[in-house]
Amino acid sequence: ATDIIPVKEALKLPAGSTVKVRGWAYRRRDLGDKAFIVVRDSTGIIQAVFTPDSPSHPDARKVTVESSLVVEGTLKDDPRAPGGKEIQGKKLEIVHLAENFPIRRDASREFLLEVRHLAVRSRKMTSVLKIRNTVFEALHEWFRANGYYEVQGPMFVSAAVEGGATLFPVKYVDGSTVYLTQSSQFYLEALIFSLEKVYTVAPSFRAEKSRTRRHLTEFWHAEAEVAWTNLEGIMKVEEELVAHIVRRVLEKNAEDLELLGRKTEILRNVEPPFPRLSYDKAIEILQGKGFKVSWGDDLGADEERALTEEFDRPFFLYGFPVQAKAFYHKNDPSRPEVTLSADLLAPEGYGEIIGGGERIEKLEELVEKIKSFGLNPRDYEWYLDLRRYGSVPHAGFGLGMDRLVTWIAGLEHIVDSLPFPRTVSRTYP
Ligand code: ATP
Ligand code: MG
Ligand code: MG
Ligand code: MG
Repeated sequence: ATDIIPVKEALKLPAGSTVKVRGWAYRRRDLGDKAFIVVRDSTGIIQAVFTPDSPSHPDARKVTVESSLVVEGTLKDDPRAPGGKEIQGKKLEIVHLAENFPIRRDASREFLLEVRHLAVRSRKMTSVLKIRNTVFEALHEWFRANGYYEVQGPMFVSAAVEGGATLFPVKYVDGSTVYLTQSSQFYLEALIFSLEKVYTVAPSFRAEKSRTRRHLTEFWHAEAEVAWTNLEGIMKVEEELVAHIVRRVLEKNAEDLELLGRKTEILRNVEPPFPRLSYDKAIEILQGKGFKVSWGDDLGADEERALTEEFDRPFFLYGFPVQAKAFYHKNDPSRPEVTLSADLLAPEGYGEIIGGGERIEKLEELVEKIKSFGLNPRDYEWYLDLRRYGSVPHAGFGLGMDRLVTWIAGLEHIVDSLPFPRTVSRTYP
């Protein structure tokens, strides 16, 4: 008996070979007395044709789109077929005859989200998920190769890291209210005292109320904290990490990038060191472009998009005002109105993919800053403890994995960077 092989392997064999593949009917049509089935598996698509002299011809005509099947036949060169080869079908086993598949070519975006459990089979989504797989794999690879320990923080937490407005309350088992984590940063900070360099990849939850192209309510957050380092040190980590991930995708996913129509020139520019733009200069540029922003404002997607026009690669935006960044950021001793922080912005209009910087290591300074933000230091008791027992200078960052995939794959909207997006208006399927 012939062994089943992946479609991609079948397409590499010479004409005349006997091949057996299995998968799903991607396209189906009859042309005269010939029945065509384009078979899709996880590796690609291949066309099979059944003529009336094949005993399986009547079955081939019955096949519906998305039916699962096994096809055996002889390989023939055919420049019109996808991949340049076609299977002259001999045997066909229908594993499951699919019901009328609800997704049509002209399906609306909204409908595709409603049937996302079926839409995830599309070739585009498959390529995005393969790129996403490489992004996650390369991230772990880089951290492991550079002496980091992977750790895990809790998802149920009792206080805000990034501000109360986006907290998700959860009724806990004892009747109290707890929250879904917005960031594992504080827990990672607790772990640098033993492990020194730690990272995690976990969901973070934020009740984002506005609809944007870059906000999910549940997103995959890669975070790292490093003892004995500063802003400069952590920016180096970020650029090395991102460059490594992009290189890996270029190596492993050339076909997927092509299928998505992703232009790769800019991805090839992603080599450290990344350019840097000060917040002060950014405000000048934005005012020059007619934006109504003043010093002190946080920058949103529109402002960031305008700034990306100045660069052909990812770049750092540094020196944010104190009021624009969360309380745990350390103020610059030589210029106390700004923080020792930097965001990494992706080019081509994408904007922020990483936020990072130095953390406050002195107890009194942290208490004062918590108060100046109108927060209660009592809510942060355990976090303050980290400044009571062997405090060290340290820095860290949070990288939005879904945003990174969105940019690398050249997608228009973050919901297309993961299979089952959670947004302000969607928790089904
Ligand atoms: P934004 O300014 O876009 O709201 P942020 O500054 O609030 O983002 P951070 O708190 O700095 O985000 O979180 C670190 C990273 O996590 C961000 O740089 C981004 O890549 C990612 N991230 C934050 N919020 C979201 C979200 N709602 N959906 C997807 N990714 C997010
Ligand atoms: Mg935000
Ligand atoms: Mg931001
Ligand atoms: Mg940020």
